[in-house]
Amino acid sequence: MEKEKLAIHGGNPIRETRIDYGRQWIGEDDVKAVAEALTGALITCGPRVAEVEKRLAEVTGAKYAVVVCNGTAALHCAMIAAGVGPGDEVITTPLTFAASANCAVYVGAKPVFADVNPETYNIDPDSIEAHITDKTKAVVAVDFTGQAVEHDRIREICKKHNLTYVCDAAHAIGTKYKGQPEGSIADMTCFSFHPVKTITAGEGGAITTNDPELYKKLRLASQHGIVRNPDDFVEKNPEGIWYYEMQTLGFNYRMTDFQAALLTSQLKKLEEFSNRRKEIVKMYDEAFADVPEIIVQKEIPESDTTRHLYIIQLDLEKLSCTRAEFFQAMSAEKVQCQVHYVPVYWFPFYQNMGYTKGLCPNAEKIYKGIMSIPLYPMLSDEDVQSAIAAVKKIVNWYRK
Ligand SMILES: *Cc1c(COP(=O)(O)O)cnc(C)c1O
Repeated sequence: MEKEKLAIHGGNPIRETRIDYGRQWIGEDDVKAVAEALTGALITCGPRVAEVEKRLAEVTGAKYAVVVCNGTAALHCAMIAAGVGPGDEVITTPLTFAASANCAVYVGAKPVFADVNPETYNIDPDSIEAHITDKTKAVVAVDFTGQAVEHDRIREICKKHNLTYVCDAAHAIGTKYKGQPEGSIADMTCFSFHPVKTITAGEGGAITTNDPELYKKLRLASQHGIVRNPDDFVEKNPEGIWYYEMQTLGFNYRMTDFQAALLTSQLKKLEEFSNRRKEIVKMYDEAFADVPEIIVQKEIPESDTTRHLYIIQLDLEKLSCTRAEFFQAMSAEKVQCQVHYVPVYWFPFYQNMGYTKGLCPNAEKIYKGIMSIPLYPMLSDEDVQSAIAAVKKIVNWYRK
């Protein structure tokens, strides 16, 4: 193939306008739903929160859903509900957003990093098992890029060692594992509705569970530890009907009613968004199948994935550039990438806590070659083709 001069070297960029790696899709229907909620009597603690919780439980197949102000709060509440505290250990993956590990630190526990599978990039159940000690209290497994983790094996390990199984499904609303939706598989499943995620509430999160005891604890954790139902009071003869009761130390992690309205409206489009994401993933997979310099994430057959991120891994031995040079070349072609993620324990906060590089060799090796290319439902086929063309143009230039 003729080499075409890269934009970073002064050539013509593949596109005229920039596309990002991810973005929300807000329609007229969403705007209308939010506007209606804003003119209601209650803009927080109103009926739309209960409504979206009901919808989320339906969509995920879970008995209960608690919505909160963001995905990080969801993870924090899950740690509290699981009873994780000082001296405990929580096993998670390093190839994730920091919040998956930070939630353990919030409650005084220690995150322990298990390595990932080199092909699927998801947490490796064998590595989870190898890291279990008598201090281990919970596992936070992340459906990385939206692909379901190996739930059957992880659930079995958690059962055997009496651990709470938390799934961080921030990437994975809409994904099914063996036909079962994410949200009803682990003991608790946490979602995020940040604008880059598949559906958005501006900021938002949720925890789903089938366990009534965990559900009660999640409510307490997210709403100041306060109960309002007289049946649940410790004080059996309150002086008046104004009485409510604070029973534990909780937080104000509430979602507003206008965010809940947006989320309900977005949930109606989950299937449409999911299908479009799948179409784009298919276009990318087909385009990169015959590019040996590009390695794509392997899918397990059990996962019917609504993909949040499309990651290409550069085979750097076959290219005469660094990942940073490739990334910058993509940017110059007006295709904005991102890297998901710097291994969590590489950050100064964790290094200062005594974690050292080299802990999880598979995750570190993957990190060195990866970048996420644009994936969101609003992308047109032409946009997708331009992202493919940019990758191929740069590979062609740097091919050894
Ligand atoms: C986005 C994300 C979170 C945090 O969600 P926020 O809503 O941004 O707080 C947690 N875990 C993972 C894997 C995420 O991608």
